[in-house]
Amino acid sequence: MTLEHESMERENKIQGNFITNIIDNDIRNNKNNGKVVTRFPPEPNGYLHIGHAKSICLNFGIALLYNGRCHLRFDDTNPEKEDQKYIDAIMTDVHWLGFDWGEHLHYTSDYFERLYSFALTLIEQGKAYVCSLSPDEIRKYRGTLTEPGIESPYRSRSIVENMDLFQRMRSGEFEEGAHVLRAKIDMASPNIALRDPTLYRIKQAHHPRTGQKWTIYPMYDFSHCLSDAIEGITHSICTLEFENNRPLYDWFLDQLPVPCHPQQIEFARLNLTYTVMSKRILLKLVSNGHVSGWDDPRMPTIAGLRRRGYTKEAIRMFCERIGVAKRDSMVEMALLEHCLRDDLNTRAPRVMAVLHPIKVIILNLPEGEVIPLQALNHPEKPEMGDRTIYFSREIYIDQEDFMENPPKKFYRLSPGREVRLRYAFIIKCESIIKDQQTGDITELHCTYDPLTQSGSGAQDRKVKATIHWLSAIHAIPADVRLYDTLFNVENPAAAIEHEPLENLINPKSLEVLTTCFVESELSQSKPGVIYQFERIGYFCLDSNDSGKLVFNRTVSLKDQWAKIQKQSM
Ligand code: ATP
Ligand code: MG
Repeated sequence: MTLEHESMERENKIQGNFITNIIDNDIRNNKNNGKVVTRFPPEPNGYLHIGHAKSICLNFGIALLYNGRCHLRFDDTNPEKEDQKYIDAIMTDVHWLGFDWGEHLHYTSDYFERLYSFALTLIEQGKAYVCSLSPDEIRKYRGTLTEPGIESPYRSRSIVENMDLFQRMRSGEFEEGAHVLRAKIDMASPNIALRDPTLYRIKQAHHPRTGQKWTIYPMYDFSHCLSDAIEGITHSICTLEFENNRPLYDWFLDQLPVPCHPQQIEFARLNLTYTVMSKRILLKLVSNGHVSGWDDPRMPTIAGLRRRGYTKEAIRMFCERIGVAKRDSMVEMALLEHCLRDDLNTRAPRVMAVLHPIKVIILNLPEGEVIPLQALNHPEKPEMGDRTIYFSREIYIDQEDFMENPPKKFYRLSPGREVRLRYAFIIKCESIIKDQQTGDITELHCTYDPLTQSGSGAQDRKVKATIHWLSAIHAIPADVRLYDTLFNVENPAAAIEHEPLENLINPKSLEVLTTCFVESELSQSKPGVIYQFERIGYFCLDSNDSGKLVFNRTVSLKDQWAKIQKQSM
C-alpha cells in the first residue's frame, strides 16, 4: 500500500455521529435491505466551496463506511442561473477531494419526463391544481407564521380543467407567471411549507442539457424527493434549512407510486469566520471584480483553496474534525489553517526563500569561489533526502533578520554580532553600507568563520540564532503573493445585511512582493506542490504564472488555533 493510499484509507473512516447512529439502527432493522445509498446534489450555479466539502465528505464518507454508494446529482432545475462550466468545475473538485461517483452521475433534468408524469398523477388524484394567481398574490395568500393562509380561488378547478391547463403549460402556450401548478395540501397548516406549495412554474429558458424542450420546470421540493426515490437513495442528507420541508418531502413520496421512500436527515451547515458560503455573494465577488475569479486563492471555493495550496487531506481532516451536528455554529478559520499546517508540516519539503532581501557581502570569501553544502529536505524526515545548496561571496538575507540598533532580545544579525546561516556557517557583521542620499542600508559587509560549517562537527561554537539565506548568483527571482482574509469582519454574512459588500472587504487581503528570491531548486516546482520556505511559511507555485515564478503563500507558520482554544476554555 502506498503512503497516499494509507492516508486515504484512514480518512475514509469517518467518525460516528448522529447520522451514522441512524444508519446503524436502520441496518440493524434491515431497513432498505441493509443498503446505504447517499447523494451529493449541487446546483450547477457556482463553484463548490468548503461548506460543500463538508457535505461531500459526509455523503461520500458514509457510502465508503457502509460499502454503499454515493451519487453525484446535478440539481439543474433553474436554467437561467446554471452553466456547463459549473458542472465541469464541480466534477473536477469532487474528484480532486478524492471521491468518485462511479457510474452514478445523474441530473435532475434526466427525470423531467418522469417528474412530469408524477405531476399528472397528482392532478388525477385531485391533489394538485393549476393556480393563476400572480406570484405576488400567491405570496400574500400564503399567510404568515401567526396567520393561516387563504385558499386560492383556483383551488377548486376540476381535474379535467387542471389536466388541460397543465398540459398547455408544458406546450408553451402561456407566458411566464401566468400559471403555476400547486399541491393541494392545507392552507391552514402551521407549517408554511405545506400551504399548497408550487410544484411547477413556467420558464421560457434555454436549459444547458434539455435545450428548448421544456417551458415548465419543477421546484426543488417536488423534484428532490422524487429524484431521490427514482435513484434508490436511502438517506437523503441535507442542511438544516430544509427541516420544515421534511413533511413535504414525505408527503409527495406518500402520495405517489415511487419505488422507495428515502429518509431526509438534516445537519448543520458549515459557517466559517471571515468568509461567506453563499453562492450568491461569492458570485458577486467574482462579477464585481473584488477577486480575480472563482479560483482566486482568497476564495473559500475548493478551486481557490487548491490554488492557494490547500491539500485534499487537510480539507478532509478539517471536515472530520468539525464533526456533524444538529445545531448551526461558526467554525474558526484558524481551525482550517491548523489542519492545513498539520498536514503540510509532515510532508512539505523545506527550501529557503528571501522575501525582503538585503545583500550581504562575505568579505573573506573570494569572488568566484563557491562552497557546496548539504541541506535536508525535511529536518525530521531523513527519508525525504537532501540537496546541495551553495555558499558564495554575495548572499541575501531577510531585512527582518538584521537590526542596526537591536533591542535587548534581538539575537539575529546586528553590527559586530554573529548569527548562523542555516546549513552553512556563522557570519559576523563587520560594517553597514548605506545609500548616500536616502540613508537606506544597501549592503552588509560580513565575514564568515570557515571552521563553523553546519554538520561538520569541526567546531561547535554556539550562537543564539539561525537565519535563512540564499546565494545571490544561485537564487532565482520570484513574485510572492501574501494573502490575508478576504473580509475584515468575523461574520460577513451577517454584516452584509446592513453594509455594502465593498466596505467589508479587507484592503490588505492581497499583498504582492516583487523582489523576492527563491532557491534554484524551485525552478522545477509545479502548482500543487507545497514547500515550506524555512522560517516563513508554506508556499506553492501559482498555476497562472507568466515567465517569472509566482508563489502563493498557502499559510504562515504561526498557528493561532491553540491560543483560540485556550481562550474559549
Ligand atoms: P444555494 O441553494 O444558495 O444555491 P447551496 O450552497 O445550498 O446554495 P447547493 O448546490 O444546493 O448549494 O448545495 C449542494 C449541497 O451542499 C446541498 O445538499 C447543501 O445542503 C450542501 N451545502 C451547501 N452549503 C453547505 C454548507 N455551508 N455546509 C454544509 N453543506 C452545505
Ligand atoms: Mg441549495
